[in-house]
Amino acid sequence: MQVCRTIEELRALRAQLPAPVGFVPTMGYLHAGHLELVRRSLLENAATVVSIFVNPTQFDRKDDLEAYPRDVPRDIRLLEEAGVDVVFVPEVEEMYPNGFATTVHVSGMTDVLEGAHRPGHFDGVATVVSKLFNIVQPDRAYFGQKDAQQVVVVKRLVADLNFPIEIRTVPIVREHDGLALSSRNVRLSPHGRAIAPTLYQALHAAEEAWVQGERRAEVLRNLVEERLAQEPAIRVEYVSLADPETLQELSGEIEAGLLSLAAWIENVRLIDNIPLPPSKE
Ligand code: AMP
Repeated sequence: MQVCRTIEELRALRAQLPAPVGFVPTMGYLHAGHLELVRRSLLENAATVVSIFVNPTQFDRKDDLEAYPRDVPRDIRLLEEAGVDVVFVPEVEEMYPNGFATTVHVSGMTDVLEGAHRPGHFDGVATVVSKLFNIVQPDRAYFGQKDAQQVVVVKRLVADLNFPIEIRTVPIVREHDGLALSSRNVRLSPHGRAIAPTLYQALHAAEEAWVQGERRAEVLRNLVEERLAQEPAIRVEYVSLADPETLQELSGEIEAGLLSLAAWIENVRLIDNIPLPPSKE
């Protein structure tokens, strides 16, 4: 496995890779969720490139950026064991040199959900993803359903800017108790960690109602809110039941939806979601 830190080195290595090339962008502190994206890419491509870059421009809070966990040597070991071909670990100055002045903005679908609560977040994501796509030039790129809105935004970006890249989505990898794996989970205290599965349980309660035939958006959303309200240590930022493509909030009888939430436990902001798929017939 080759580890490179500059764009020039990456481009030289990229030119030698067999096609098709799969790409997994990450912010590091890797867990089994990231490794599932890597596994899919290894399975479906002749070579796999992984990037590790804690992108400062997608953080709306300085304290969150500073507290973001990092362990690049461990990440590199895990990626080597997995069989990755190239790891790209640029410094901030390599990605954003003095004079950097361009922002990629995807409009509309970035005004809601995460975008509404984290100003500038998706400008940071769209800009860094565009740069990484231009640098790595993959045939396929892998994103987790964990960041459901990010997947919708990246697919729009790729279509609008004509990146010749196929976007593949990987389902959420969870702990045994249902908590979605996240690099931020390590920041929870033992008590916080113990109540964190409530987020999944709340979504799952509505999913069960969906499976039983409940189709009223307000009822489904309420089921999530009521379950979360039972746990005083959880501060809910939003609970949403939105159209899976436009991300606009739904009401009345629905055919399909994306149920998602963001909540604070202690000083850690966690997100989770469950898709409510259309009935088969
Ligand atoms: P991050 O390092 O948090 O930016 O995540 C890098 C990629 O891994 C993103 O596409 C995430 O959606 C994905 N990811 C993070 N956590 C999970 C998870 N629990 N299951 C599946 N994918 C995940």
